[in-house]
Amino acid sequence: MKIAFIGLGNMGGGMAANLVKAGHEVRAFDLSEEALGAAKDAGCDTFDTAREACADAEAVVSMLPNGAIVKSVYEGEVFGRAPEGAVLLDCSTIDVATAKEVIATATEHGYAMVDAPVSGGIAAANGGTLTFMVGGDTNAFERAEPILDAMGKAVIHAGDAGAGQTAKICNNMLLAITMIGTAEAMKMAQKLGLDPQKFYEISSQSSGYNWSLNAYTPLPGVGVESPADNDYAGGFATPLMVKDLRLAMEAAESADAAVPLGGRAAALYEDFLGAGNEALDFSAIIKTYS
Ligand code: NAD
Repeated sequence: MKIAFIGLGNMGGGMAANLVKAGHEVRAFDLSEEALGAAKDAGCDTFDTAREACADAEAVVSMLPNGAIVKSVYEGEVFGRAPEGAVLLDCSTIDVATAKEVIATATEHGYAMVDAPVSGGIAAANGGTLTFMVGGDTNAFERAEPILDAMGKAVIHAGDAGAGQTAKICNNMLLAITMIGTAEAMKMAQKLGLDPQKFYEISSQSSGYNWSLNAYTPLPGVGVESPADNDYAGGFATPLMVKDLRLAMEAAESADAAVPLGGRAAALYEDFLGAGNEALDFSAIIKTYS
């Protein structure tokens, strides 16, 4: 299949390479020469503009930084350039309102389109083990699914247009809350004189069980191996968590949803980022509990 791929950064680079490995003809475009060079090395055909990459494509995949860029790329470069009837897949994490708007415009132009944000970081993008949460009608989902299968380990139809983004930001708001809760409990246990490894052994098998504790333990040398054991390098960078929490707060306001803990988690992560921690994994927030 001829697939245009727009946005070959940390995530998109590995995803496009996996489409090539699955036997697709990938037509790549990125504003960055470096990203385009890496895509070429991975077997993609590279183009000078997104519209050239889209001409002739049966599908278009995008992995871009934010909603404003997604909207301008689709409206300025993809709609009317990709052949009518092509399936469009935006895998970026963006706001729910923009995702719905872009999909509605795509439909008016005769395209099938899904929002398909991902769970999993750069290693999962490279390894083809991402989880995709997909919003869109059944026809669009069924056409997108085999393409997503080549880049991930799980593809879940979340609901109508925008449902993928909704699932992603609600999940990541929950993740922020559980990480902060885990950090507080671990540090409190330690201050009360309990060995943190004992706390991990007990709580990870008790009602405190949660992913942040069990699968991503935020204290070095305790529990499972995680970015904490690597000076909080790699993993899920704090600026990306802050981005997702901002999107979550915007969505909560638009739906008039009460999110007192989500709001507190968002404020704590904003402070943590503002204190110069942009290079650290989000689990490093435990360092603020000295
Ligand atoms: P990135 O900054 O590494 O890559 C984005 C790429 O888009 C860059 O190469 C940039 O040059 C390109 N780009 C920007 N504007 C463009 C335009 N107008 N036309 C063509 N290319 C353009 O970011 P990333 O880490 O790959 O993240 C991409 C998306 O994936 C974001 O929405 C992010 O929130 C989401 N995401 C990232 C992670 C992660 O761990 N990095 C995990 C889950 C989801």
